[in-house]
Amino acid sequence: EEAIKRQPLVNIGTAGHVDHGKTTLIQALTGIWASHHSEELKRGITLKIGYADTAIYQCPKCPPPQKYYTSANLPEDMRCRYCGTPLEYVRKVSFVDVPGHEMLMSIMLAGAAMMDAALLVIDATKECPQPQTREHFTALSIIGVRKLVVIQNKIDIVSRERAKESYKEIRRFLEGTWAESAPIIPVSALHRANIDALVWALEKYVPIPQRDHTLPPKMLVARSFDVNKPGTPVSELAGGVLGGTVIQGKFRVGDEIEIRPGLKVKKGGQEVYEPLYTTITSLKSGNEPLEVAYPGGLIAIGTELDPSITKADNLIGNVVGKPGTLPEPLYDLEVEIHLLERVVGAEQPLKVEPLKTNEVIMLNVGTSLSVGTVTSARSDSVHLKLKIPVVAGSGTRVALSRQIAGRWRLIGYGFIK
Ligand code: GDP
Ligand code: MG
Repeated sequence: EEAIKRQPLVNIGTAGHVDHGKTTLIQALTGIWASHHSEELKRGITLKIGYADTAIYQCPKCPPPQKYYTSANLPEDMRCRYCGTPLEYVRKVSFVDVPGHEMLMSIMLAGAAMMDAALLVIDATKECPQPQTREHFTALSIIGVRKLVVIQNKIDIVSRERAKESYKEIRRFLEGTWAESAPIIPVSALHRANIDALVWALEKYVPIPQRDHTLPPKMLVARSFDVNKPGTPVSELAGGVLGGTVIQGKFRVGDEIEIRPGLKVKKGGQEVYEPLYTTITSLKSGNEPLEVAYPGGLIAIGTELDPSITKADNLIGNVVGKPGTLPEPLYDLEVEIHLLERVVGAEQPLKVEPLKTNEVIMLNVGTSLSVGTVTSARSDSVHLKLKIPVVAGSGTRVALSRQIAGRWRLIGYGFIK
């Protein structure tokens, strides 16, 4: 009971157009710059899924929003800045940061599969919606994220009139959608202004989801690493590490696990995937070691796998479970489809044409990505042959994209039959 309270139990993602301030906002909330990758830093964009945790604290005496604190602005003496009362620990939350660049929608979709709720970050200086604001919002809708807090960012550099106008644009954009009554919180992520009001909104609108910890455990792999420094002697090498989120059940140190679809191998001239089997040697949430990992938060699983298998995100998109509990990988599948009326993300409005036989489409399932050829198409369902199999049971949601003018564009969603 105590241990579970120290682990983040809810994942909150970012969504929104590039440069609207997603990564800066995560930094304001957590104190951590979530895109560590050197290439990402150089180019100033988030290429991969980034994540960072924060702990929320409250003053038991002060009213909201000023009662709220996070790890990023915690006074050293752990007392309320306004009244001096000792602060109380509330909970930990995990933030999943996704790229806003239009080329990186598949990463956004993989991130969305791990989100219990999302922060839609909107730059108040720009007219709303910008193309990826619309595209990310549609992605959240398609993946089934149903809790949203809208952030009206960069409030430090807009006039009062523009702030009001931007607020109206956002309300108009959300009108008639599932997020119609989502709160809109004006902030300056850069100057960390009004972050306590955002935390208040998280406390109010993003409770810890109800979970059944007795289900067979399942984790979606979002990153995988070789954590050894170059030149480490073989006898001292740490095993491969998997990063991701537990979507149901719980994992313990010492558990035997199966990883599917696993590794690509050549068999009789054909490429097939073979599951990997290993043991959990360690579990971590941020820098904190865990004995048991529950859903919510990004966790890292240490394994006995050869780190060359897990290096450089090699195992992204895999599913981890107890041996024998995961669905068989599907190379062939029937999908009930729901196409959007219009292609989102493109500058010009484009109608979504029906799927055709022999067309190649992209599928996002959980954190995995595959490309498939349509072998037969009807208006409400298609049959697909996949290059990379998906590990998902019947009823699983998939996002569908099609290449339009050289870019993968979201065109709809479906359910595996
Ligand atoms: P992302 O692409 O959505 O992750 O955006 P970033 O967090 O990388 O921010 C893009 C740029 O906007 C950076 O130069 C930030 O410093 C700047 N920025 C972010 N938030 C604010 C803000 O609240 N006010 C101002 N003035 N600039 C901001
Ligand atoms: Mg970013």
